[in-house]
Amino acid sequence: MMPLLATLEQGLADIDAQGLRRRRRTADTPCAAHMMVDGREMIGFASNDYLGLAAHPLLVAALAEGARRYGAGSGGSHLLGGHSRAHAQLEDDLAGFVGGFVDAPRALYFSTGYMANLATLTALAGRGATLFSDALNHASLIDGARLSRADVQVYPHADTEALSTMLEASDAAVKLIVSDTVFSMDGDVAPLPRLLELAERHGAWLILDDAHGFGVLGPQGRGAIAHEALRSPHLISIGTLGKAAGVSGAFVVAHETVIEWLVQRARPYIFTTASVPAAAHAVSASLRIIAGDEGDARRAHLQQLIERTRAMLKATPWLPVDSHTAVQPLIIGANDATLQIAATLDRAGLWVPAIRPPTVPAGTSRLRISLSAAHSHADIDYLEAGLLQLSEGTV
Ligand SMILES: *Cc1c(COP(=O)(O)O)cnc(C)c1O
Repeated sequence: MMPLLATLEQGLADIDAQGLRRRRRTADTPCAAHMMVDGREMIGFASNDYLGLAAHPLLVAALAEGARRYGAGSGGSHLLGGHSRAHAQLEDDLAGFVGGFVDAPRALYFSTGYMANLATLTALAGRGATLFSDALNHASLIDGARLSRADVQVYPHADTEALSTMLEASDAAVKLIVSDTVFSMDGDVAPLPRLLELAERHGAWLILDDAHGFGVLGPQGRGAIAHEALRSPHLISIGTLGKAAGVSGAFVVAHETVIEWLVQRARPYIFTTASVPAAAHAVSASLRIIAGDEGDARRAHLQQLIERTRAMLKATPWLPVDSHTAVQPLIIGANDATLQIAATLDRAGLWVPAIRPPTVPAGTSRLRISLSAAHSHADIDYLEAGLLQLSEGTV
């Protein structure tokens, strides 16, 4: 039996040799700017908790109340007994909050964004369809495209000229354009109005993954589509609720016919146990915070931190990405150098993840500094001091 294990051991040794071994850290306290990680106090720049809601007392209370009302588990899949009042209410809330881009909006709540993407792409694209996918799309969109068995054409990142040429040349019966709104490892925003224009001209669906825009961008944090004031019945908005919303799960919001199709046909929706109803109950509470004055205040504070961090990163010897979002990458290049820098910051109590291939293209390993409204200006001061010390060591 050993050769099987030996093959994996060889594979792991290769991963080590390339500086690509990933290590999980264990958080001993809730996700927050200051937290205990593996027994040490750290300032975290690793989370996607952009609004600092993950440990918000109102959400913790809503989760507890949801558990008292609906129990611990849903007991079944959505179509076979597991669909709770908490899920139904959240879907109504989401349709109202996100669905302004379409008449007759409806929402579908998923356990995770990964599943929402698999579900949407496989249900809408099949053999004979062509999916046009941005080169930097999230892994879950790539996997959904593969699973769909549609023909997949990858266009260069944000290159709407290239996309236009591909659409022009395509005679597929069903066309889908798929893109992140805010790209998760670069923080830049897709050319959304132009993408919609192309979709309309070529009779294509436009599926937008707003994982990093929802809660942060647009009026009341309604997301990237609202930010651009786009409207179309061919738009499909997907967002995760474990990032800015601070809980877990994901949504697809679209015209009611699209959603009904997903309920009937999307296997990652149908063949899985409905998530804990209390989580849905907590997300409804989160939406009220996101949409209200507190959400506005948190977004304004986050924006200040973003602008400060941009200026600060420009003063380092490395290559910041031109991002106006909470994702502020600093490209170092080589895997080893990136790991060393992350390790030095780590010793100073700064948790800044090193992102390496295959998450990003080879040669573009980077620090992914993720900002949150939970950070204070003092936290940014501390990060600045850590980076400055490091750059003095290298130049
Ligand atoms: C995080 C993320 C997902 C997956 O969402 P989960 O709810 O974490 O499964 C999908 N798309 C993008 C762009 C993401 O960043």
